[in-house]
Amino acid sequence: MFDGLLNMRKTCDVCGVRFERQAGESVGGMYLNLGLAELSAIPGFFIVDALFDPPFIPHLLFWLAYTLVFCLLFYRHARGLWVSIAYLTGGLQTDDDYQKARDRQPPGR
Ligand SMILES: [Zn+2]
Repeated sequence: MFDGLLNMRKTCDVCGVRFERQAGESVGGMYLNLGLAELSAIPGFFIVDALFDPPFIPHLLFWLAYTLVFCLLFYRHARGLWVSIAYLTGGLQTDDDYQKARDRQPPGR
């Protein structure tokens, strides 16, 4: 699905399905990524606060850094999850024009 670390391909190499049918569809994957980061960081903040009562500012900075690192590490998974949601809801299909353009390209592209 990916070309490099963070760059998603336009189509699947195996079946030719187009991942992002309209501009801005990838925003769903980003919402998913940020939502999961916050869903883990906010309870984590309160659990650690209740158990260990750390100083507020370092504690807050830790969870801000956690959110950033989580978003970076989970980016590809979130995009993949979003594509799977699109697949399960019937939002992914192959296009004849895309398929023909893909077939004209030399292998490995
Ligand atoms: Zn495929």
